Amino acid sequence: MTTTAGPGGPRLEPLTALRRVTSTRPPPVVGERCEMCAEPVADIHQHVVNLESRALLCTCRGCYLLFTAEGAELRYRAVPDRYLAFPAFTLGPGQWDELDIPVGLAFLFRNSVQGRTIAFYPGPAGATESELPLEPWGAVVAANPQLGLLQPDVEALLVRAAGRDRSREGDGAYTCHLVPIDACYELVGRLRQVWRGFDGGQDAARAMDEFFATVSARSRPAPPVDQVSPR
Ligand SMILES: [Zn+2]
Ligand SMILES: [Zn+2]
Repeated sequence: MTTTAGPGGPRLEPLTALRRVTSTRPPPVVGERCEMCAEPVADIHQHVVNLESRALLCTCRGCYLLFTAEGAELRYRAVPDRYLAFPAFTLGPGQWDELDIPVGLAFLFRNSVQGRTIAFYPGPAGATESELPLEPWGAVVAANPQLGLLQPDVEALLVRAAGRDRSREGDGAYTCHLVPIDACYELVGRLRQVWRGFDGGQDAARAMDEFFATVSARSRPAPPVDQVSPR
């Protein structure tokens, strides 16, 4: 992948952007700038995704608004700030295992450039990515049509096994939220800093609990969907 320094400044690869996102806590980044026009931006600011490289760019409000049009043929796409809950989300027996995700927590998002739905989940090496198997994922979306609200590239579904007891399948065993993709990167970056051993240890568990508390507090129930075609 290339890093070009044009009028908009250097474009950051995802991990670099990640580090930037995570480095905003606790020592605040002084003099952070919009990566498109170089205007200074506040510590809390918005991001756009480069659809080709999947790099996350820090933006000022003005540049952000250039890329909010859904469905536009643009190279960049603004990351929305909505959080949605899916209270009726359900996975049937064995459906999680069919998705080939080895842990009880994953972010799922649609990569429109590659035409794939990707899962990424935290681990000792940061985030591990894998493509979701098409049919099992299609069955999940068919059973939960509100998931079709997910916007490709800029939003992710956060799915978590509700308890450590994996034998508890069925209603309520898994929770699902729709979250901005930059929030996912932020969590993965935080987890990488605190991860210990195989399962992450207490600090990672605490970081995840904090993240879930934030997501739950910010989420409103997803609106009903009459008919949503899977993307
Ligand atoms: Zn700007
Ligand atoms: Zn940023």
